[in-house]
Amino acid sequence: MADKQSSNGPDLTHGVPVAALDGGKLLGHVGEREVLLLKVADEIFAIDAHCSHYHGPLIEGLVQGETVRCPWHHACFDLRSGEAMRAPALSPLSFWQVERRDGHIFVQNKREDQKQAQPAGGQQPARIVIIGGGAAGFAAAEMLRRRQFQGSIVMLSADTAAPVDRPNLSKDYLAGSAPEAWVPLRSDKYYGKMNIDLRLRTEVTSIDSISREAITAGGDKIGYDRLLLATGAEPVRLTIPGADQPHVHTLRSLDDSRAMIAAAAGARRAVVVGASFIGLEVAAALRARDIEVHVVAPDKRPMERVLGAEMGDFIRALHEEHGVFFHLEDTAVAIEGSKVRLKSGSECEADLVVAGIGVRPRLALAEQAGLDLDNGVAVDAYLETSTPGIYAAGDIARWPDPHSGRNIRVEHWVVALRQGQVAALNMLGQQKKFEAVPFFWSQHYDVPINYVGHAEKWDEIVIDGDINAKDCTLHYKSGGRVLATASIYRDLESLEAEVRMERETA
Ligand SMILES: Cc1cc2nc3c(=O)[nH]c(=O)nc-3n(C[C@H](O)[C@H](O)[C@H](O)COP(=O)(O)OP(=O)(O)OC[C@H]3O[C@@H](n4cnc5c(N)ncnc54)[C@H](O)[C@@H]3O)c2cc1C
Repeated sequence: MADKQSSNGPDLTHGVPVAALDGGKLLGHVGEREVLLLKVADEIFAIDAHCSHYHGPLIEGLVQGETVRCPWHHACFDLRSGEAMRAPALSPLSFWQVERRDGHIFVQNKREDQKQAQPAGGQQPARIVIIGGGAAGFAAAEMLRRRQFQGSIVMLSADTAAPVDRPNLSKDYLAGSAPEAWVPLRSDKYYGKMNIDLRLRTEVTSIDSISREAITAGGDKIGYDRLLLATGAEPVRLTIPGADQPHVHTLRSLDDSRAMIAAAAGARRAVVVGASFIGLEVAAALRARDIEVHVVAPDKRPMERVLGAEMGDFIRALHEEHGVFFHLEDTAVAIEGSKVRLKSGSECEADLVVAGIGVRPRLALAEQAGLDLDNGVAVDAYLETSTPGIYAAGDIARWPDPHSGRNIRVEHWVVALRQGQVAALNMLGQQKKFEAVPFFWSQHYDVPINYVGHAEKWDEIVIDGDINAKDCTLHYKSGGRVLATASIYRDLESLEAEVRMERETA
């Protein structure tokens, strides 16, 4: 994202009256940088006005004690140090010195004394191996170095690219509105600078938990003192006749997204099989490329199982407004060249077919290593598996969620990052429980849907506002208790719901 910010609000170097901050927040600028003043108790903080993740406007966020949470994707920053305390933001915010004089507040000098994150104490392992170069694996490596871990970090990834912003692959990047330069989580140079031994195109085929070695397809044996398994999930592939043709795609990696962009360049019509989040985000991205899109799915409504009937109807209508054709309560039974045959007997023409029919956690390694499985890799509250010294995080991990009181596994970007971070701290001996309330977002055209909590089932949905007006909050309740909250353009309420859920089980 661009670093340069347009000037907005008063010039804080010239001072603003103390009373201007009566509301607790004020947006101003120092030179070309937008700076946010926040008043907490009697103290005033001056920080970057935008989140270091996607540039979300922190003035619309939630101040909680000496932290501020971003309204867009719930990152959280320490106001005193600027540290990104919670993913998805990973980089700190800049912060400025504040001076009070003659009833005015002046902000002039950027502070360069960014407090280093506290080093992890205790005896540290010599070598940490991370299997997986995705969200959880990257966040773990970044946190290990942030906590000044001095030992060796080896990151083994089957991907051809260094860790990427995976959510972007079905959104702006696929739609053509974000350049590829925005996709890597860090530049290639970062790994050398941080002394992270990132080995791409390296598939681990087994783990020997007795000799403590990860063994690659090439036969290399890499010893570890602590191991993080973060192998993520893989798309479920279509098995119908014709699904092995080159114009049939799935989407997980940067290579997949690039291949789809190349195919879209010459395509006029596409069929998306499955009305999943990813399937529908792909539909929106292809519409942005002016491709005719048909979505085929067995469901009565898109996303009803996760978001309920009312939101499902809204999502369908939203996509229809953008020209998507739905073939619901139907399935694809065969792909014959450019014809996709449906069970109902109808058929759709497609130069491009995308299967968005869900993902499966990649468990083969965990299974081979003899780790306890439970529709995922079973981990304790510290994200440690049944084999001491081996941790698991991200899409593969099933953990005891203190909020729902159940063991759950989710496929959310923010959860994977945060689990990677907590696993890193625990590999350094910190004994930190993973207690974050799950959060995910999905983006369809200009409509973001934010979701906090976890509700596999509910007995009531309480709707506040108007879904069709894109101004609503939906509370998914069971036995009178809110298990999850979905919202559209009610970001503050989403943050408040998150805080309430955290408190309920605190
Ligand atoms: C297109 C797309 C869009 C998404 N959008 C959103 C969104 O908007 N919001 C949201 O909350 N979530 C979203 N998600 C889900 C989110 O990206 C995942 O939950 C998250 O990436 C999981 O992180 P992970 O680290 O567990 O796995 P991944 O990020 O998938 O990383 C797994 C890594 O493990 C490697 N690997 C696997 N097996 C091996 C092996 N044997 N040896 C070596 N390496 C191996 C892979 O190569 C990969 O590098 C999206 C996912 C996709 C695919």
